[in-house]
Amino acid sequence: MIRSNFFWKNFLSYVLIIAFTTFVVSYLLVIKAEQFIEDTALEGLQEKLVLFEPYFADGSTWREPESIKLLVNMARDAKTRLSILDDAGSILLESEVEEITSSERHDMRPELKDAARQDIGVAKRYSDIKASQTLYTAKRIQTAKGPLFIRLGVPVRNLQERLSDIFSAVAIGAAFGMLLSLLIALILVRRITDPLSEMTKVAEAISLGNYGARIRKLPRNELGTLGLAINRLAEAVQANISRREKMEQIRREFSSNISHELKTPLTSIRGYVDTLLAGALNDPQHNVRFLRIIESNAERMSNLVNDLLRLATIEANEGLVDLEVIDWRPIVEEAIARHQPKMDSKKIELKLNFDAEHMQVKGSQKAMSHILDNLLANAVLYTPPSGHVSIGLRTIDSCVELTVKDDGIGIAKTDQPRIFERFYRVDAARTKNEGGTGLGLAIVKHLVIQIQGSIHVESELGQGATFVVRLARAH
Ligand code: ADP
Repeated sequence: MIRSNFFWKNFLSYVLIIAFTTFVVSYLLVIKAEQFIEDTALEGLQEKLVLFEPYFADGSTWREPESIKLLVNMARDAKTRLSILDDAGSILLESEVEEITSSERHDMRPELKDAARQDIGVAKRYSDIKASQTLYTAKRIQTAKGPLFIRLGVPVRNLQERLSDIFSAVAIGAAFGMLLSLLIALILVRRITDPLSEMTKVAEAISLGNYGARIRKLPRNELGTLGLAINRLAEAVQANISRREKMEQIRREFSSNISHELKTPLTSIRGYVDTLLAGALNDPQHNVRFLRIIESNAERMSNLVNDLLRLATIEANEGLVDLEVIDWRPIVEEAIARHQPKMDSKKIELKLNFDAEHMQVKGSQKAMSHILDNLLANAVLYTPPSGHVSIGLRTIDSCVELTVKDDGIGIAKTDQPRIFERFYRVDAARTKNEGGTGLGLAIVKHLVIQIQGSIHVESELGQGATFVVRLARAH
């Protein structure tokens, strides 16, 4: 998998920090080790120097060949170079050189100058004799024949061998440490960059319209919280979009329904007008009947337009209606009076069940009147002749319940949730003939909501229907 720029930038920062730290630590370690080796070497030289001192006490016996041989052997055993110099700095004995030439007469070397001043002197410098860097310790001693310098030297090369051992150990340690740190850095960086790049991808997908995209790996830290927030945001966006699409769909269906509902009566009107114009106008047997059909279709269109306008007005006023204290009773009486002729003609018997004389609720006179008109008209319409309709009013807790009950054709359970939708008719062909627009209950529902009440239907197919409207009690 090709990793992002972000990953590499982060990882490289870690690499640089790790490399720098490892380098500094290793460097300091090597410097310290070098110093330590030198210090121990000098200490060693000084300890050995003390061992040589007794051989020079009388100032003369050391010059005998036997003694020189012994001293040279001692120096070799101690893996050091022994030099004896007079007070002026001239070499008297040199353990690793057979013949001392005049050129090897020394001026006062730094270690001798120091020793002359403070008994012991040390120096690290280039040795002409050994042709290499050498570490020296010199001591000025008093003999019976005057002062002498005893000096021990060890080539720095010998010390460096020990240092290079330490150096390779440090290098191996540093390499391992670095490798391990890099591995840990890799894991750490991945733990941050992997979720972040997934989040970036998902956020990009969402911004491009893929609202279903979600972050799957949610780490248990702040990144997880961020991921969760992105997921929630995506859900909210998705919900909003689907709500908007649904509303758009409803609006489209509504427009096509209106067109269809208007087209049917219009086609019929045009058909009959054409027939009349083609000669039927003078046919006394049919002309009046045709005109009546035209009239009823025109009425149907006018009802539809009125209902649509009413629906639009209610929707426009949603939430703006001031509730008043209204008594149901006179509204019920006026509605009955309006529907009495129709009930009489169908020989429908009306019963009233009132809990009390007055039933005051919070509502609106116009809305309540319209609601009851509609429910009563439906009850009469969908009840066969000689049927029964009853209107009830009773108080339940803080509500007043209005029921409009009939023993007509009833509504199937599957249709019940849908009858409050616009243009929904249980049996389209049948109710269209009855002149219904399919908007009546949609208007009723809107009005009930507008006055903060609720409505539902209880029914069984063939067993009549009961519509129940609940409004808040006023007293
Ligand atoms: P419509 O104007 O066609 O009556 P409504 O919105 O008033 O439209 O009613 C929707 C549908 O509900 C009606 O077509 C009818 O099938 C059914 N309906 C309404 N009231 C009753 C009732 N009392 N009994 C049986 N069916 C009913």
